[in-house]
Amino acid sequence: MTEVREAAFKVLARLEKAGHQAYLVGGCVRDRLLGMEPADYDIATDARPERVQALFPKTVATGLKHGTVTVLMDGQSVEVTTFRRETGYRDHRRPDRVRFVTELRQDLSRRDFTVNAMAEDRRGRLHDPFNGAADLKQGVIRTVGRAEDRFAEDALRMIRALRFSAQLGFRLEKKTRTALERQKPLLRHLAVERVTGELEKVWKAEEPSRALRPLWEMELFPHLPPFAAWGVPVPAPRIPFIRVDTAKTRRARWSLFLHLCGVKGEEAERRLSSFRLSANEVRAISTIHRLAVNWDLSPQDVVTGKKRLLRHGFEPLEAALTAAARIRGWESAEEAVLRSALHRWHREMPVHRLEELRLNGQELIRALHQPPGPWVGSVLQSLLEKAALGEVPNEREALIREGRRLVEPNT
Ligand code: ATP
Ligand code: MG
Repeated sequence: MTEVREAAFKVLARLEKAGHQAYLVGGCVRDRLLGMEPADYDIATDARPERVQALFPKTVATGLKHGTVTVLMDGQSVEVTTFRRETGYRDHRRPDRVRFVTELRQDLSRRDFTVNAMAEDRRGRLHDPFNGAADLKQGVIRTVGRAEDRFAEDALRMIRALRFSAQLGFRLEKKTRTALERQKPLLRHLAVERVTGELEKVWKAEEPSRALRPLWEMELFPHLPPFAAWGVPVPAPRIPFIRVDTAKTRRARWSLFLHLCGVKGEEAERRLSSFRLSANEVRAISTIHRLAVNWDLSPQDVVTGKKRLLRHGFEPLEAALTAAARIRGWESAEEAVLRSALHRWHREMPVHRLEELRLNGQELIRALHQPPGPWVGSVLQSLLEKAALGEVPNEREALIREGRRLVEPNT
């Protein structure tokens, strides 16, 4: 048993001993039935939050109003949430009112999908009033209760449905899919951060296309933030759907997604910012996207290729190559030749980064008897390029000599 599972069982036992009902619920039950190790454990109980706080020496009031207390047990954290019902949902995002209840079934009925609405008790007995296990077996995402209503309550569930179908490799049950199509105008109520959060989970899936294809087929974009605010049709009418699945890195997948949305190289930064990604990510992904959309390297372009490797690094360039291959529809042989060229160039270069150069800024200043200034950086950069291309050996004396030539071109 993993440590966190062991901790979760201790929490269950403590709650039961104190006279309460307590169950593992949601993702951890689902994942275990699928034979996967859950990342975290959630517990549902009829004990009120104050009671949970009183029963355990170490707790964090994570979301008291909604009934959630995080219990710290043996260095692990386990979320304990009081059984609850939710009502209202006037903003299509969150309930107006949360009411604590005393029956497990009521708590399970507020959950989004049947596969997420199962509970397991301390003795390993499954509580599955909505037949989640059967849907799990058949690979189906189905809402608990009437799909139209559940999507109207909380529009994020529509995007979660697509995310889980990618994450688990499942398909949408027919009525759930029909309801999604009907309720899509409600997607406009979502906060863009939530959409981005779900997309990030989609990129981690084996087959993101399971989520993306329905986005296309059902024409969800005009309703979904941030696309609705772009002021241009998304996806661009000319661009055919391509699978992003063969790109394995998250950033390459973002880049292909941008392409599918009709985003050109020079628009990448602005569009990525609208997803509220960090400045660092915006920069990194838009560089990959630009390189991919404008890809012009052939296996013969040794010098240009190496310079580009120096400038951007191996991983971004390889991600760009992967994306470029999908965008241009290259044969896999063509892509393989370029990929091995990239590897060869990288291997052939004796230095890849300034830190690997056998001369640093201080040493350069001292050797050339010059005051420090912006020249140091640019000379080091030139030296790095020359050393990488094999024009100058990566040795102190040779680098100093070359540095002197660069600073005093006439001597
Ligand atoms: P993972 O953590 O692997 O993404 P998860 O199933 O644990 O999957 P969470 O978002 O952590 O997903 O939510 C935990 C549980 O809470 C879900 O399994 C589900 O039962 C319930 N839940 C979460 N979000 C919603 C929602 N928007 N509407 C209804 N129930 C929800
Ligand atoms: Mg979870």
